[in-house]
Amino acid sequence: MPKPNLIAIDGAVATGKSVVGRSLAQRLGYRFLDTGAMYRAVTWLAMERGVHHQDEESLTELAGASCFTMSEEGDQLLVDGELLPLEEHRARIDQLVSPVSKVPGVREALVRKQRRIASEGNIVVAGRDIGTVVAPQATVKLFFQASTVERARRRYKELVEKGKQIDYTRVLRDLEARDRIDSERAHSPLRPAADARIIDSDRLTVEQVTEQALAIIEEG
Ligand code: C5P
Repeated sequence: MPKPNLIAIDGAVATGKSVVGRSLAQRLGYRFLDTGAMYRAVTWLAMERGVHHQDEESLTELAGASCFTMSEEGDQLLVDGELLPLEEHRARIDQLVSPVSKVPGVREALVRKQRRIASEGNIVVAGRDIGTVVAPQATVKLFFQASTVERARRRYKELVEKGKQIDYTRVLRDLEARDRIDSERAHSPLRPAADARIIDSDRLTVEQVTEQALAIIEEG
C-alpha cells in the first residue's frame, strides 16, 4: 500500500492530536503541522498588539499578514521566521483562542495558508476541521475522542508537571467552555468527517493510539 500524502487528525482539546500526530510524523518521516498553533499564534499577536478579540477586521488582517512556515526539521511552526512563546503563555492564550478562531476572516486566511503548507505533501496535519474543510480529499482521516473528565485530567497533569499552580475544576471548566465554542460555531465547527475513523483514546497510551493509527494508515 503506498503511503498517503496527507494524514488528517481532528479532535477536541487534549484528545492527543499533537502528541500522537508528532509521533506518527516521526515514524513515517513526515512533517507535522499543528494548525491549533496557527490560531494560537494569531491570538498571541493580537494580545501583544492590543487588538481586541472581537475586532474581527483587525484579527482578519493580522491572520492574513502573518507568514507561516515550518522549521527545517518539519516539526515546528515559525511565524514571520520566528518561534513564538506560545507554550510559555498557554494559559492566557487558552482564554481567548476559541473566540478568535470563530472569526470567519481569520479562518479563511489560515485555511488558505494551511492548504499551501500541506500541498507539499508527506505531512500529518492536526486540528478541528482538517478532514472536513482544510483537506477533505485526504485518504486517511482520523478523529480522536476521549471523555471530558479524562481530557481535563491530562491537561491538569501537564500543567502541574510544568510547575503551574492550577485548580482541577478550573481546568475542567475552561476545557468545557472551549469545547462549546469550537463545536457550536457557525463556521466549520468541530465534527468528524463522514469518512473519518474514530479513535477513542480514553484508556489507551500514546503508543497504543499511535499503533492503532499506523494500522489504519497501513489499511489505506
Ligand atoms: O489544538 P489546540 O487546542 O491547540 O487549538 C487551539 C484552538 O484553536 C482550538 O480550541 C480551536 O478554537 C482553534 N482551532 C480551530 N481549528 C483548527 C485548529 C484549532 O478552530 N484547525
